[in-house]
Amino acid sequence: MRASHASSAPADLLGHTPPVAPRVSVLLPLPLREPYDYRVPSGLDLQPGDYVEVPLGPRRVIGVVWGPGGGTVESGRLKPVVRRFDVPPMPEVERRFIDWVAAYTMTMPGMVLKMAVSVPAALDPPKPTIAYHRSAAEPPPGFKLTEARKRVLALLDDGPPRTAPELADEAGCGVTVVRGLAEAGMLEPVLLQPASVSPHPEWNRPGPTLSPDQRAAADFLRQKVEARAYATVLLDGVTGSGKTEVYYEAISACLEQGRQVLVLLPEIALSAQWLDRFARRFGAPPAEWHSDLTGAARRDTWRAVAKGEIPVVVGARSALFLPYRDLGLIIVDEEHDAAYKQEEGAIYHARDMAVARAHLGQIPIALVSATPALETQVNADSRRYVRVHLPGRHGGAMLPDVKLIDLRADRPPPRHWLAPGLKKALAETLAEGEQAMLFLNRRGYAPLTLCRACGHRLQCPNCTAWLVEHRLARKLQCHHCGLAQPLPEACPNCGEHGTLAACGPGVERIAEEVAELFPDARAAIMASDTLFGPRAIQEMIRKIADHELDIVIGTQVMAKGHHFPMLTLVGVVDADLGLAGGDLRAGERTYQLLHQVAGRAGRGERPGTVYLQTYMPEHPVMQALAAGDRDGFYQLEAEMRLEAAMPPFGRLAALIVSGEDAALVDRVSMALGRAAPRSDTVAVLGPAPAPLALLRGRHRRRLLLKAPRSTPIQSLIANWLEQVEVPPAVRVQVDVDPYSFL
Ligand code: ADP
Ligand code: ZN
Repeated sequence: MRASHASSAPADLLGHTPPVAPRVSVLLPLPLREPYDYRVPSGLDLQPGDYVEVPLGPRRVIGVVWGPGGGTVESGRLKPVVRRFDVPPMPEVERRFIDWVAAYTMTMPGMVLKMAVSVPAALDPPKPTIAYHRSAAEPPPGFKLTEARKRVLALLDDGPPRTAPELADEAGCGVTVVRGLAEAGMLEPVLLQPASVSPHPEWNRPGPTLSPDQRAAADFLRQKVEARAYATVLLDGVTGSGKTEVYYEAISACLEQGRQVLVLLPEIALSAQWLDRFARRFGAPPAEWHSDLTGAARRDTWRAVAKGEIPVVVGARSALFLPYRDLGLIIVDEEHDAAYKQEEGAIYHARDMAVARAHLGQIPIALVSATPALETQVNADSRRYVRVHLPGRHGGAMLPDVKLIDLRADRPPPRHWLAPGLKKALAETLAEGEQAMLFLNRRGYAPLTLCRACGHRLQCPNCTAWLVEHRLARKLQCHHCGLAQPLPEACPNCGEHGTLAACGPGVERIAEEVAELFPDARAAIMASDTLFGPRAIQEMIRKIADHELDIVIGTQVMAKGHHFPMLTLVGVVDADLGLAGGDLRAGERTYQLLHQVAGRAGRGERPGTVYLQTYMPEHPVMQALAAGDRDGFYQLEAEMRLEAAMPPFGRLAALIVSGEDAALVDRVSMALGRAAPRSDTVAVLGPAPAPLALLRGRHRRRLLLKAPRSTPIQSLIANWLEQVEVPPAVRVQVDVDPYSFL
């Protein structure tokens, strides 16, 4: 398309049609429902997907040409596009993807676009930097060669051109010294082009010799990539069965075709081992995309992805919205992981959106897991997805033996959390010179602090949540809003001193118990708040892998796919923890998490044992884990969901109404409740206070819509919302396919 000329302009008296300026519609990365029209100034040739700068009120903003202009505003009154950026246009498939995500998740398209243009600085070409080398010129008359000046000149006598800050740094002087030399003509500026992209992964480097099952799976994926058509493949196999090796083959096939690959990982900051392994396999690292990158890295990566200069991106969910020039394959590793659901801003599930992206782009996508989401299982059973199964661990390594410890019978002593049976196993493991891991998915020392005199519980003033004691940091913290305060000396309610007592364990408290039981063991805590940044996590993983630690006490940070050859014992301190909330997926999630934790044990030569401490040994989740009966568990879970018409057999959507004024929030919630679409098949529950009824100072109410799978719930909800006026002080968020019920 070229920018369109409106054809309905009135003819003038002589019958000429006056020239009408062409117009385009431009989507802006702002909370707007639709694109705005702009006039195309003469001399500017615009195509859909072009990144442009346009005026908006007194500001100038960036936007993307979304199509021909079609609005009703007279072209004479339209503001002109200011300029087009020199970067490849956003491909059509990405624009359709943005529209699709917006429609599905009921997010304003502008807000989805915002995720796709998250680095505006990348739109302009990187500025070349100015470096200096020595000129042949003599110092001008009166120019004094100070010691500092001499040092700078000496540096350049034998060395490459360097920037002013580099020279100043090396010569131990101020930048002004360098500038002074340049002004006097003693230095000559040269333009340094920005460093070109790093080496490319080599698709043709040989991988390991695959087993026949692995070979068959890899060939299947390879064919899908070569067919250049849409297919969703579930790569299903226990931890250690070689799923990663198999999808590396698919990556190799895609690189051979010169197309780009996206690998999504749930928590990229924790994936150092994955990155190292990729670099060993392909001779070069992939490009990373996640929130811990520096601004410069984001800018360079975004631009290089748009230009097709980066073949492989590994990233967190936001990597879905990069401007791939020619994406040929998507891999979603640990596809069941809850971290793929984004709960803030645009609420979306990255796995589901990735499948949509693959469909729009007519490319294959592989969903990879040892414990796939029930949604994915059901889709594979019904042949919407193709299941490729890898049986058994590579090299015949045994799956760990899972044992249940019934805490009602095998009781830990008061204010202790390790049952005698687990203590005995720990002692034996240490005596064998092997490694153990204790898992408790709770940071800090104690989840609750209570006054023994008056019963007062220390609570967050901004959230419906208890404050968690972090003894190492000497603080009480709210895990929802981040509030941190010192532990008070006296009870804030009754004023008694020395009556505040820690209730229940967090990892810090388990570490204390371990130190008491095994004072000679080398122990460490591994949790997101005891390790600062990816580097510290990487160092901890190395220490465990190199057996510099005997016992590691960790949260789910530790559960991810790390490989520890000496680890033979895993103890789960509170296997019931995830079942407590009782939401829709509590059982499924607990099964997946504990299965993954258990998978840490016995990955090397030695067989592993896993102990699950539970008060509910008869619970189906515990029984399935102990029996290693994954498919039996899924079947039972699926039957329960089917009977209740819950996802994936029915559909859910949540409305979350929030605001600082509780009465106003209630009023809007009630109005939504009255206007709710109800029918024989559609039910709306609520409004009810959310379990987190207060979050960061905002009051929250929830409504939950439940409908058959075939219901077009987006249009239903759109109609519903239209009937209720929402004042600006109240926010109504729509969560289609909710995973969190807080
Ligand atoms: P998964 O992704 O299913 O957990 P991996 O691909 O990580 O499994 O494989 C587990 C371990 O076994 C890795 O160290 C991997 O390199 C090794 N492995 C898997 N398949 C092979 C093979 N065919 N030849 C050699 N090593 C293999
Ligand atoms: Zn809080």
